[in-house]
Amino acid sequence: MLPEASSLWLLQLLRDTQLAQFYRPILEELNVTRPEHFDFVRPEDLDGIGMGRPAQRRLAESLKRYRSGIKPKNWVYKILGGFAPEQRKTTTPSESLPVLPEPDGGLKCLIPEGAVCRGKLLGSGCFGVVHQGLWTLPNGQTIPVAVKSLRAGPEGPVGTELGDFLREVSIMMNLEHPHVLQLHGLVLGQPLQMVMELAPLGSLHARLTAPAPTPPLPVVLLCLFLRQLAGAMAYLGARGLVHRDLATRNLLLASPQTIKVADFGLVRPLGGAHGRYVMGGPRPIPYAWCAPESLHQGAFSSASDVWMFGVTLWEMFSGGEEPWAGVPPYLILHRLEKERARLPRPPFCSRALYSIALRCWAPHPADRPSFANLEGLLQEAWPCEGRCVRDVTESGALRMESGDPITIIEGSPDSTTWKGQNGRTFKMGNFPASAVTLVDLGGPLATRPVHRGSPLRGERHQGSTDRDREKANLRNLPAARGQRRNVPLQKMKGRAERAWSHPPGVPGGSESLWRRCVYSHSESQGRPPFPPE
Ligand code: AMP
Repeated sequence: MLPEASSLWLLQLLRDTQLAQFYRPILEELNVTRPEHFDFVRPEDLDGIGMGRPAQRRLAESLKRYRSGIKPKNWVYKILGGFAPEQRKTTTPSESLPVLPEPDGGLKCLIPEGAVCRGKLLGSGCFGVVHQGLWTLPNGQTIPVAVKSLRAGPEGPVGTELGDFLREVSIMMNLEHPHVLQLHGLVLGQPLQMVMELAPLGSLHARLTAPAPTPPLPVVLLCLFLRQLAGAMAYLGARGLVHRDLATRNLLLASPQTIKVADFGLVRPLGGAHGRYVMGGPRPIPYAWCAPESLHQGAFSSASDVWMFGVTLWEMFSGGEEPWAGVPPYLILHRLEKERARLPRPPFCSRALYSIALRCWAPHPADRPSFANLEGLLQEAWPCEGRCVRDVTESGALRMESGDPITIIEGSPDSTTWKGQNGRTFKMGNFPASAVTLVDLGGPLATRPVHRGSPLRGERHQGSTDRDREKANLRNLPAARGQRRNVPLQKMKGRAERAWSHPPGVPGGSESLWRRCVYSHSESQGRPPFPPE
C-alpha cells in the first residue's frame, strides 16, 4: 500500500534512521500521524511494536533533528517516559509545549499517591473532576489543596486529554504570581492528579451569579479584581504565554478579595515574530469571548487575551451574564465585524470602565491596550468614594442612611443625580448628588482623574441600550481621593461551567472533534473551517 501524503514525513524520518519497517506499526498501532504525537509515545509503546531501545534512541535523535530548533526538556514528559516535546521556530500551527525552564530539582513536584486524600467535589472541567483535598507533607503538616484528576476511559486516559492535562501541568509548574493559581505537584497514580492551591471560595462566575439574598459584589472590589487580573495577564504575556480562555468562570476566589487566574488547559506559547499562536485544528474555543482574529483564523495573542479581558470585565459588571446570549455563534463574528456591534454597557458599569472595555475590543489587535497599560487605565477609572450626609428615602432613589459609605459609579458637579452603590447594603441606583459628599482618604489613588463626562468615542456605535447615557450629560468630578475599602463578601456558592461554542444546531458536549470545530464566519460563507490537525 502507498503511504498517505500526510504521513510521508514519518516514512522519510524512519528511512533516514533505517527504521522504515516500523512505518505501518507506528502509523496504525500507535496512531502517530504528526510529529507531536510522539510526545505521547512511551518507550513501552515502542517496545510493544518490537523496536529495540537502541533503535528508539536513534528515532528520538532523528525526530529531534526533524523538529529542528530549540529543544526544551520537560520533566513532566521525561518522567512519564515520552519523547521530550519541542517547540517549533515558526508560527505554523503547533500544539507543542512552551520553552520553559525546568524548576529547581523538578522532581520535587512529584507527590506520592498516599500523601493526598480527596474530599468533596468542587467542580468538573474538560479533563475530569476537581476535588477538595488534604496534602500531607513529609514533616506531617497538612495543607488544604484542590486535586484535579484526569478522566480516564476503560483503557486509560485518552491521548488528547492526557496531552492537554500534562501541558497544563508543565505550564503551571513554572508560574509563580500572586494572582495565578499555584500548582503544588503531580501525583503519578491512577488517575493522574494535579495538586493545586485551593481557592476555597470557588469561581468568580459562581459568586457573580449567586442568587439572592447574596448581595452583588462591591464595585470597588470588581475594579480590584480587574487590576489583579491585568497584573496576572501581564505576567503571563511577559512569559510568552497566551491564556485563550479568560472568563469569570476561570477566575477563582482564593480569598474574598483575591482572585487567581486558573485553568491553563488552553494556554499556549506565543511564537514567531508576530507573537501569535495559530490553532492547528478544530478544537473548541469559547466563542463569545473570542477576538475576531481568533474566530477568523484561529489566531491568538496577548492582544486577543486583552479582548477577552474586555469580555470578562463586561461579565463582572453584568452579574455574570453570558456574553452574546441568544446570538448563534456564527452570527457573533458577523455582528462584531459587519455591524460593528459590541456588548452593551451594563447599567452599573461606569463610562470610564466601559471605555476600557471598548478599547479592548478594538478591531485591530495592535490598537488594543497592553495588559501593562490596562493596569494604569484601571487606576484612572477607579470609582470615587463618598459618604452619605442625610437619609435618602425618596421613591426610586437608592436608599441610604447618613454615614453610609457610597461608591460613586457616575456623577459630576453639575448633575443633580448621581449613580452609585451603597457600601452598607451593596444595592446600586441613582440618588440625589446633594446627599453624598466625596471622601478624601488620601490613598495611593489620590491623583487619579475621575469619570469622563461626554459620551465615549465610538460608544454610540456599540449597540448600548443604556438610555441614561444620553440623559446624564455628566462631566468630570473634581479630583477626589479614595482608598479601597475592605468589604466582606458573603459566602460563595455554586459553580460556573465552561461554556464552549459549537456549530449551529450542535449541542455542547459529546460531538466528534470535527463537529466541535470552530465555526468561523468564513465557514458560514462557504469556506472550510480550520483543517484538522
Ligand atoms: P477546571 O477543570 O479547571 O475547569 O475546573 C472545574 C471547576 O472546578 C472550576 O470551575 C472550579 O469551580 C473548580 N476548581 C478548579 N480548580 C479549583 C481550585 N484550585 N480551587 C477550588 N475550586 C477549583
